[in-house]
Amino acid sequence: MKDKSIFLRSGKCGWGKCIFCGWGKYEYSKMTLHELKKKIDKDLEKRVDILKIFNSGSFLDEDQIPKAFRSYLVRKCELMGVKKLFIESRTEYVDESLVEDMKSDKVKVIIGIGLEVADDEILKKLDKGLTVEKYVKAAGFLRKNGFGVRSYVLVNAPYTNQKTLDRTVELAKKYSDYVCLLNWSPHGYSEAFDLWINGKWKPFTEKQFNDATKNYKGKNIEKYSDEFSFVPRIPPKKQEWLRGATEKVLLHPYFRVWQEYFVEGYVPPKTKKILLFIPCSFRKPYNLSHLHKSIFSVLYKMKMYDKIHVCVVSTPGVVPYSFIKQYPFTKYDWPEWEETPKIKKKYIEVTQKRVEDYLRAHGSNYKKFYNYFKLDSETYIALHNVCTKLGIGLIDCLTKEAYEKVKGEKNPLSLEEALKDLKSTLNS
Ligand code: SF4
Repeated sequence: MKDKSIFLRSGKCGWGKCIFCGWGKYEYSKMTLHELKKKIDKDLEKRVDILKIFNSGSFLDEDQIPKAFRSYLVRKCELMGVKKLFIESRTEYVDESLVEDMKSDKVKVIIGIGLEVADDEILKKLDKGLTVEKYVKAAGFLRKNGFGVRSYVLVNAPYTNQKTLDRTVELAKKYSDYVCLLNWSPHGYSEAFDLWINGKWKPFTEKQFNDATKNYKGKNIEKYSDEFSFVPRIPPKKQEWLRGATEKVLLHPYFRVWQEYFVEGYVPPKTKKILLFIPCSFRKPYNLSHLHKSIFSVLYKMKMYDKIHVCVVSTPGVVPYSFIKQYPFTKYDWPEWEETPKIKKKYIEVTQKRVEDYLRAHGSNYKKFYNYFKLDSETYIALHNVCTKLGIGLIDCLTKEAYEKVKGEKNPLSLEEALKDLKSTLNS
């Protein structure tokens, strides 16, 4: 079966309030009938069996898609041998006119409806603007008139649990040809994103999604679990400089959600068997700093460079090097001169926990563990405490002798004496 998806970004969702959705808040310029026809003619030049139309809102909302386009699309599908045509709509736009415009003997038209959860109270909290009764009525009408129904169900919507999910799937199965179970991550400008940042809800991991949906089987059950490949991108308007050697900065929710991602969603590169922890730098992104340039000038020359997985350990926690250009790792300052004994103690405690979580999740990926830190730094202490606890042999890439020589200098880890140790330790 040949499958094709077409995105028609036109106008704005007539509702736009669902707390988990960001796309519904965007306003695209409205496509004219002529533009829509031109697009479909261009995108549907070859024969396909299944055509899916997505338009961030409702295809049946005339403020988004002109009514005259409906019959044009169906006739075009008939001509191109399309057997199934999927569109999406809120229930309030489902009416008799759909039967007149889109009924076809050759093409099965299936309407996707966002049921999300079969519970009126929760639907209200999600600001979905839908009730279970409205859903049942619309789905019944569609099926009675020869249309198909594809119901979207949010697995792990805020305020739900396994029982609500079970109830929702049961109801959706009764009224749908397809039930689409979605693992999802909140859009940066949605209210659910703020719930997550404020620690009131969090996205499911792959395992949690699979566990929650394992009992739902059958030809009409679709599972979309690929949302966990996402990273927690903080939208630009919500980004701020995180500055100061304070608990507020150390425990900032933006750091927390990234650490959750690194522990639960991130998969370290399988081929990199050597884990090297290094410090952050005052300059951001780190790779522009003198310290990191010096460290990498050593690493690049090593034969086993491609086996080394570099992770920065600092105020944000553990940061795999491939993420150093992501916010908030580019916009924070932890001025050491502002550190108090109390905050140093807290830093060690928090860093220990973050490193421990990372190593418990991914430690088995590595065969060797190294660190290149000042021997009296708080991060060095935290790293050693954790590795001792977990029975991991953590190797120092800086000897006491070399450190004694560079200790009082500015940026000691970037000095030749120290770098020599890094090189010889890794080489050995
Ligand atoms: S989920 Fe659908 S109905 Fe709700 S705001 Fe987004 S596009 Fe609109």
